[in-house]
Amino acid sequence: MPSDKRKTASKAKAPEAKKQKLVPLKEEKRANPEGWLQKAVSNQRGATDLKCNPKRIRFISDAQKMKQGSEGILYWMGRDHRLQDNWALVHAQQLAVEEKLPLHICVCLLVPKSELSTLRHYGFMLKGLEEVAKECEALDIQFHLLRGAPGEVLPGFVSEHGLGVLVTDFSPLRGPIQALENLKKSLPEDIPLIQVDAHNIVPCWVASIKLEYSARTIRGKITKLLPEFLTDFPVVGKHGYKATGTTKPVDWDEVLGSLQLDGTVGEVDWAKPGTAAGTAMLESFIDLRLKHFGTHRNDPNSAALSQLSPWIRFGHLSAQRAALQVQRFGKKFSQSVAPFIEELVVRRELTDNYCFYNDNYDNVKGAYEWAQKTLKDHAKDKREYVYTQGDLEEAQTHDNLWNGAQYQMVTEGKMHGFLRMYWAKKILEWTSSPEQALSIALYLNDRYSLDGQDPNGFVGCMWSICGIHDRGWGERAVFGKIRFMNYKGCLRKFDVARFETKYCPKKL
Ligand SMILES: Cc1cc2nc3c(=O)[nH]c(=O)nc-3n(C[C@H](O)[C@H](O)[C@H](O)COP(=O)(O)OP(=O)(O)OC[C@H]3O[C@@H](n4cnc5c(N)ncnc54)[C@H](O)[C@@H]3O)c2cc1C
Repeated sequence: MPSDKRKTASKAKAPEAKKQKLVPLKEEKRANPEGWLQKAVSNQRGATDLKCNPKRIRFISDAQKMKQGSEGILYWMGRDHRLQDNWALVHAQQLAVEEKLPLHICVCLLVPKSELSTLRHYGFMLKGLEEVAKECEALDIQFHLLRGAPGEVLPGFVSEHGLGVLVTDFSPLRGPIQALENLKKSLPEDIPLIQVDAHNIVPCWVASIKLEYSARTIRGKITKLLPEFLTDFPVVGKHGYKATGTTKPVDWDEVLGSLQLDGTVGEVDWAKPGTAAGTAMLESFIDLRLKHFGTHRNDPNSAALSQLSPWIRFGHLSAQRAALQVQRFGKKFSQSVAPFIEELVVRRELTDNYCFYNDNYDNVKGAYEWAQKTLKDHAKDKREYVYTQGDLEEAQTHDNLWNGAQYQMVTEGKMHGFLRMYWAKKILEWTSSPEQALSIALYLNDRYSLDGQDPNGFVGCMWSICGIHDRGWGERAVFGKIRFMNYKGCLRKFDVARFETKYCPKKL
């Protein structure tokens, strides 16, 4: 049975936690004036003729040649909502320039009726797209916001505008894969449909052609390919071939107001949407937090993490851009740069590998055989505490650390990476089956975390509850051989009471 039984958790403070040196939470003075990174990035972007590596590109259609007499090229922007540092758009623009044709970008907006369709997520997404639309205008690229499923709205759009090639980006998740399949079926056969992995540094299908067992098995494959793929980006420049028709400007407030969203999960203050804000967050990481990443990344009380996940999740910021800048400007902090690149590149790209090659990426059948067996063997073990989804959602457990983490996720849309592991493992411990635990963890993570509904979230929950990318540990109740985490372990790592005081007392 777990040894962390208690009622007033915050009273239990381990001496080790007191000894730990804390990273100051107050903003330090920065050496450089704010905004320096944006300028540095603009200077670094290469010439427009720098080509997209062909290994990043694959044909989804049989057609590979653009049909004669086409009047434009289309980039259907699916996952990567940014104008610069986007290999799919770079490729689309290069095709358009070669053929001397106008360039269009379409986003297809379709909001599923679901508890996951929240104002928090769609507000962030639409405000990021507003920035993209403005940048398009300045570059003579036509931006179109279409309402409906890609397979239903894009074929008509393509024929109406006489477009000859459709380029899109890559996601390994079921919904986008299905949408791409549907589009392929409904698009005329003579229109080439091209996919470019604009999200990963090493394209998912190049990094590995199979499901990888763990970070250990994919690390070497990715790092060997980094010199080839971790390159500078060419600039997406002013497009020389302007479309003749005009586009109706988008009324973004009207669009957001028209969507059927759950407004009880509201937008958050700390994360401003868009590439400019994502770049500013990256700048503050390099200036203030990177030096602490190596030593304090597992301390939820320390400002040591990048906080970049929402911008990466929505594609407002390219992970490749973040990796390039941290390597370039973080040379003084080598003890931090290496573990950061491990998270940003190896761990993150492993999650796309998992979702791409495993259809069961969000259910217990996606676990290794040993893990499924051990979870089954212990499915009937007596649980010391059993909570419903409602209890957990409202942070009504006996554990103030867990409640604080849950509360922060609900109110701020974020949870510290270390606590995410603890949080999900406790859901396994306190619910009646692993299936239920996984479903509740995914529901809460995807509904409240601004970076949710992403391969990282599926893998984070599957790692914590189903042991994927991990090994078997000493057998114990409920968990079986799945790695266990407990409150005492947290007390040894950080000042738990400090965290609880900050996040727990308020009622949801
Ligand atoms: C139960 C659970 C749920 C999670 N849900 C999500 C989620 O919904 N969305 C999400 O982006 N991440 C998720 N993670 C992974 C990780 O916790 C977050 O990426 C990280 O906390 C985000 O904060 P940061 O940007 O400050 O990360 P940093 O530590 O600064 O890392 C930089 C970037 O590296 C990537 N990264 C970091 N840790 C991981 C990891 N363990 N696996 C894969 N990529 C990683 C992220 O893109 C992150 O932005 C989850 C982890 C767990 C255990």
